[in-house]
Amino acid sequence: MAQKRVAVIGAGICGLSSIKCCLDEGLEPTCFERSSDIGGLWRFEVGQKGRASIYKSVIINTSKEMMCFSDFPIPANFPNYMHNSKIMEYFRMYADHFDLLKYICFKTIVVSVTKHPDFSTTGQWDIVTETAGKQESAIFDGVMVCTGHHTNAHLPLDSFPGIEKFKGRYFHSRDYKTPQEFSGKRVIVIGTGNSGTDLAVELSHTADQVFLSTRRGAWILGRIGEEGYPIDTIYTTRYVEFLRRIVPLSLLNYFAEKKLNAKFNHAIYGLQHPTINDDLPNCIISGKVLVKSNIRAFTETSAIFEDGTREEDIDVVVFATGYSFSFPFLGDCAKVIKNQVSLYKFVFPPQLEKPTLAFIGLIQPLGAIMPIAELQGRWATRVFTGLNRLPSASNMMADIELLCESADYIPYMDEVACLAGVKPKILSLFLMDPKLAVEVFFGPCTPYQYRLRGPGKWDGARKAILTQRERIIKPLKTRVLDDYTGALVPYYLQIFLIVALIAVTFVYFPWSFFPL
Ligand code: FAD
Ligand code: NAP
Repeated sequence: MAQKRVAVIGAGICGLSSIKCCLDEGLEPTCFERSSDIGGLWRFEVGQKGRASIYKSVIINTSKEMMCFSDFPIPANFPNYMHNSKIMEYFRMYADHFDLLKYICFKTIVVSVTKHPDFSTTGQWDIVTETAGKQESAIFDGVMVCTGHHTNAHLPLDSFPGIEKFKGRYFHSRDYKTPQEFSGKRVIVIGTGNSGTDLAVELSHTADQVFLSTRRGAWILGRIGEEGYPIDTIYTTRYVEFLRRIVPLSLLNYFAEKKLNAKFNHAIYGLQHPTINDDLPNCIISGKVLVKSNIRAFTETSAIFEDGTREEDIDVVVFATGYSFSFPFLGDCAKVIKNQVSLYKFVFPPQLEKPTLAFIGLIQPLGAIMPIAELQGRWATRVFTGLNRLPSASNMMADIELLCESADYIPYMDEVACLAGVKPKILSLFLMDPKLAVEVFFGPCTPYQYRLRGPGKWDGARKAILTQRERIIKPLKTRVLDDYTGALVPYYLQIFLIVALIAVTFVYFPWSFFPL
């Protein structure tokens, strides 16, 4: 039988991993990328309108062991939190290693994706692409939409009366590149997501004064956790997830708030929803950044805040107010309403007669998007081949209503992994390979866990898991000390905890011993 042809739209990280997933499942991918290179948002460029964009200094806020592709660990000597140039280096290594570039048609934009006339029986799509002004049409058996969701700037000018009179400069964070031109200026940054806080900190080094305006505050987390380990390697673990399930939420929130407030009291600093920034408290305590409430109105030169205070002589306003997304090439096949699309497990539109359209990476997780995109791609390609089946449209709709706009990180990955047949079986692992099980359960929930079994099993997964801490420590050991004794949980305590945990689970949650 002829290989099924799959169109992958976009060659960012989701596109790259999707090409590989197609190859692993024996499908024939063709990737269309409107720009001239891979990497999508992570490729820093100045002056490129219409594509996702980052500022020059961006350092990723998910650590390398948590964000890597599951069968291609990031080199041990790479830093734990990488600058965007280093991230690009890794993506290029991945593309080279799996020989993905030859499947990509660069400078080719997908103009339209429509159902082929016999879609209800074949599930095929007519795709029109444009290269150097010339349009072409082709038929594909499947489509993976990997166009990203941080491309269109969300600029809510309607919410800011008087902005049309403001004589200074205003723009969206998407168009910010470097701080030099703001030297000596009085700048307001609106929004306390990662963009707003990053920009407030960076601008505070050159600007005369930075004001950070927020309507509901933010909980500020640092990149560095206990003992200096990346914070996501400490808290994104199956053990913490297990505690989250058995300990009442109010108690967990109490301890989480207590811990976050131990470093600096968020009520005093005027902040509150989860954002990662290591330097903001320093900038606030040194007065370089002043936290303000939401803006009620602008005048020609000033901003009036909701608490009635006013700041004069404002030169620049940066709207770090987030992003929206759309799929102009898709017509009615996926309607975006209030920045959301109704998708089964955030991947499949439930109403199509054939499951041959998948969205990859269209999710806002509290963790790295790369491992999620990869799992979604592995599952989607198996659905394309017919090896996995989707439930009925009504069951998918019911499931969509249960899942809200964001999903918990490990539970969501486990759910998709389960559908793809690659979820690790923790109990049997404890019986068959206790050393590995301890690291899988108590250690960081790294992507390699989803390569231990099932389709796409990778022989290097066990070793990658057992050596992950070495790769975390390696780039830090630029001055070696003889008496280093670091371990996240001492070995004897791990054994004690395992025994206690198994006993408690057997008594109170016997059903958790049976995989989904
Ligand atoms: P993109 O990287 O946006 O790639 C989409 C590609 O599709 C582009 O190359 C584009 O040219 C192409 N394309 C679009 N439309 C078409 C078309 N019609 N035809 C052909 N090609 C098309 N996520 C994390 O996990 N960790 C982080 O620390 C993190 N930091 C971030 C920092 C910033 C400043 C921003 C804005 C986002 C950050 N994200 C982070 C989220 C980020 O969106 C993902 O990391 C990731 O880049 C998404 O990859 P993607 O492949 O889905 O999309
Ligand atoms: P974001 O997370 O959506 O944050 C947008 C901010 O703007 C929020 O604080 C929001 O407030 C505020 N806002 C939106 N509309 C507003 C309005 N009308 N009035 C007042 N405030 C308004 O967007 P982002 O910070 O650009 O982040 C986008 C993505 O990029 C995220 O995934 C983020 O993690 C990632 N990112 C990562 C890094 C990094 O790795 N270093 C850097 C930047 C961005 P509310 O919360 O009240 O809605």
